[in-house]
Amino acid sequence: MQLINIKHNSEQVSFRQAVLQGLGRDQGLFFPREFNELPDLPDLLQDSFVSRSVAILHHLIGDEVSETALHRMISSAFDFPLKVPELDERVHALELFHGPSLAFKDFGARFMARCLAEFHDGGPMTILTATSGDTGAAVAHAYFNQPGINVVILYPRGKISLLQEKLFCTLGGNVTTIAVESDFDTCQQLVKQSFEDEQLRLDLGLNSANSINMARLLAQVCYYFEAGSAVPDPEKLVLSVPSGNFGNVTAGLIARRIGLPFKRIIAATNINDTVPRFLASGHWDPNPTVATITNAMDISLPNNFPRVLEMGERHGLPLDSLLSSTSLDDDLTREAIRQLYSRGYLADPHTALAWAALEKSLRDDEHGVFLCTAHPAKFLETLEETLGIEVPLPPELEAVKNDRILSSVIPGDFESLKKELEPLRS
Ligand SMILES: *Cc1c(COP(=O)(O)O)cnc(C)c1O
Repeated sequence: MQLINIKHNSEQVSFRQAVLQGLGRDQGLFFPREFNELPDLPDLLQDSFVSRSVAILHHLIGDEVSETALHRMISSAFDFPLKVPELDERVHALELFHGPSLAFKDFGARFMARCLAEFHDGGPMTILTATSGDTGAAVAHAYFNQPGINVVILYPRGKISLLQEKLFCTLGGNVTTIAVESDFDTCQQLVKQSFEDEQLRLDLGLNSANSINMARLLAQVCYYFEAGSAVPDPEKLVLSVPSGNFGNVTAGLIARRIGLPFKRIIAATNINDTVPRFLASGHWDPNPTVATITNAMDISLPNNFPRVLEMGERHGLPLDSLLSSTSLDDDLTREAIRQLYSRGYLADPHTALAWAALEKSLRDDEHGVFLCTAHPAKFLETLEETLGIEVPLPPELEAVKNDRILSSVIPGDFESLKKELEPLRS
């Protein structure tokens, strides 16, 4: 696979380089130079999820990773269920949250971890990340027990929920968790300082598990085909995706470009609506970010959006007819949670928002699939408050809720962090 830097097209890299490097010159995003159609789509849709995903990723990545290696990587990365329950005769839910951190980010984070393990040249490698809650769990689980890779996760002490903390601070092994006596911004600052410390960076082989990494996007292409195989006629398929950074929508458009013939895709946002306004007016005019009950989408500068545009400009997708975007506020989101619950489906706020956007626009001759990006228990407080019920814990949370938190606690300064990292130096 050849990728170019979207900002400087002359910078070309392999998939391996793109994964190891993350970003190109001037913070430019890497993106494939070209896409080819998959052969044998009907057969592929009949295939099992893992074996189909190996075929899709082999088609996309090419010979840089052998099919045998890909099979090993995918079967261990995607080792949790992917379910597509029917809501009614016209609508299915694509449940992407049955992985260890109970959110769809497990697909991307776990595949990227296996890519890094595969491409890793034997020197030290340490993934260093700051989290305000959810990313930490996906990253920790993705790298847990990966040979030769250490993970260090910083988070603000007392500022994430106890259940969130239990989900990733009880693992131990190659996962080090550090509670910083400060806020999230300080944690991010400490990560930045670590990367700027040349000696530390080399000694530990520092790498960030960045959310714009191509490995994560490619992994997400795979589950769109599962939606295609669940509906009677993929050409009538309309997808609705709860969107923040627009990585998930980009992956959907890649699936379309390589042959999944869905009819259209809806990017549903909360009131942080830079993209819906841009698509309506042609003006890119971000407002300050506002806090909502769909906080994973509280983003007004979506960092993957240049890739969405690239799918139109360079790769020829008719975005005008294919892609639409709508925004829904918290009241409409809560109303959607209630409506879904009355139909027997408990959805997290992000998922409910995507369903409402779909419901608003689905026509009689279309078949809808909305993407369920987080397990409802991850947003327990909002659901209990909106529905007046008690939400049961899933086994993943039941299993760890009485485990001991293994994190060390440090003050929010760089010297303290360095001391804490000392045992990881080779
Ligand atoms: C990250 C996230 C999103 C947004 O996905 P993007 O790829 O950034 O658009 C939506 N829902 C949940 C629960 C998330 O964690």
